Amino acid sequence: MAMATSSSTQLLLSSSSLFHSQITKTPFLLPATKIYLRRPKKSLSLSCRPSVTVLAASSAVGVNESVTSEKPTKTLPFRIGHGFDLHRLEPGYPLIIGGIDIPHDRGCEAHSDGDVLLHCVVDAILGALGLPDIGQIFPDSDPKWKGAASSVFIKEAVRLMDEAGYEIGNLDATLILQRPKISPHKETIRSNLSKLLGADPSVVNLKAKTHEKVDSLGENRSIAAHTVILLMKK
Ligand SMILES: [Zn+2]
Repeated sequence: MAMATSSSTQLLLSSSSLFHSQITKTPFLLPATKIYLRRPKKSLSLSCRPSVTVLAASSAVGVNESVTSEKPTKTLPFRIGHGFDLHRLEPGYPLIIGGIDIPHDRGCEAHSDGDVLLHCVVDAILGALGLPDIGQIFPDSDPKWKGAASSVFIKEAVRLMDEAGYEIGNLDATLILQRPKISPHKETIRSNLSKLLGADPSVVNLKAKTHEKVDSLGENRSIAAHTVILLMKK
């Protein structure tokens, strides 16, 4: 919105301007132009962390709590998180996806069980809560997590979400791998993931696609997953 005065042009930039970070009551001068930036309405503030006083509560699995106990500043009604993970596929390892052992000629070489889907779901939840990533909370330098079932990480992420006062609105995950075909296992994986999350299966969606035979994903040398999650204040 722009307004003109008699002596000079004064521009009032609304709170939806890209210039939130430059909020000031003091006019600054451009040649022959005064520009005023209006303070945004409080409700538009997005620099918030969830109300996570509970995050300092003791962890059932002994996670690195120094990274989960940051002070909250504000509660939002909804929070969105994104997770991504990728693992190398090597012969001689099991292929665990969503807690299900999928028959294949190779599996994920990783510190834990290498469950790419559960890892990226954990990261999506942590991201939505404004917390550090899975590697900081469950460091792979800690022998405690060697060969751990990734369901442990999911349960801890769900505990953090629950105690922060949020529940899952819905989740959409995409697996990327060339082989094996996921369609025969999709419902089993989705159902187990819903169970681990304590969520209704109708809010947990799973898709799978190949990588068109290109790059490591398309050459059966790696597997990746993306997850987007919406959390809602309880
Ligand atoms: Zn992983």
